[in-house]
Amino acid sequence: MRDADLALYAAKAAGKGCFRFFAPEMHEAARERQLMESDLRVALEKDQLKLVYQPCVDSSSEAVTGFEALIRWQHPEHGPISPAVFIPLAEEIQLINEIGEWVLKTACEEAAKWPEHVTVAVNLSPVQFKSHSLPATVRAVLNEAGLSANRLELEITEGVFLSNDEHVHEMIANLKAIGLKLALDDFGTGYSSLSYLQRVPFDKIKIDRSFVAGATEPESRNAALIRAMVGLASDLNMQTTAEGVETHEELQLVRDLGCSLIQGYIFGKPMPPEEAIELAKKG
Ligand code: C2E
Ligand code: MG
Ligand code: MG
Repeated sequence: MRDADLALYAAKAAGKGCFRFFAPEMHEAARERQLMESDLRVALEKDQLKLVYQPCVDSSSEAVTGFEALIRWQHPEHGPISPAVFIPLAEEIQLINEIGEWVLKTACEEAAKWPEHVTVAVNLSPVQFKSHSLPATVRAVLNEAGLSANRLELEITEGVFLSNDEHVHEMIANLKAIGLKLALDDFGTGYSSLSYLQRVPFDKIKIDRSFVAGATEPESRNAALIRAMVGLASDLNMQTTAEGVETHEELQLVRDLGCSLIQGYIFGKPMPPEEAIELAKKG
């Protein structure tokens, strides 16, 4: 029964309308996953999760406008584990609300030490977005950290629009009522229905790194796509951040295309809080 169950999971993971035969490796994979699940719970309890901060820079003045908080997990045996791996796991095992609250709290406490004009961006999982208590949690965290709401930016992805429409718009209104900013992360990679851009009062659109990478190649169509996104955003009174800018050529290009903000290795990799505060003060 257990083997059949593992085969069923594998078939589900591979998408709908297919089948999988059980294979012994599935035991190993399931065992590893189980270990990782319990390790992640321990990591949260034992303070093994850390936040690093990546600067976001004004595209014309090159002044630091804010930092995005990014989570890191240093596993005692396996070393660093990417959030792209453990965030989906945390979502599945319903640990994401707790982790998300820790991220929010830690990031706001850190940002309260920065100069007044420097903002902090926190990533939200679509699962957190479904939780009715989110606005109350955000208010409490801001209050406790002594951070004014307009210095907090929440980053959501197109994934949140997949679920119940009514609830999503109510949640957005409740969050906006707090006075914080909303950014649409990884724009262009998801379901990209333009209708929600028209309905949702985003303050900022973050153009995904996949458009920026390779945009300077002669035959690339990415520049045209970025230009269209910037035009759309500015008509809707939204700022645009170009994500993942690494080279001078890319920087020149996204500037010429009118992106208002830039985030990428060219200006700084995600850094520990001690370095972030230094940079925030220097500007
Ligand atoms: P994201 O929110 O789109 O974050 C940007 C990612 O791009 C980060 O990866 C960052 O390190 C990377 N990046 C930034 N500039 C460059 C560049 O110039 N070149 C390259 N190659 N990469 C660049 P990271 O930190 O591995 O995070 C991956 C994703 O994991 C994030 O994508 C976000 O979706 C998620 N994530 C990270 N921290 C959190 C968190 O606290 N909560 C939630 N729910 N998700 C998180
Ligand atoms: Mg983000
Ligand atoms: Mg992104």
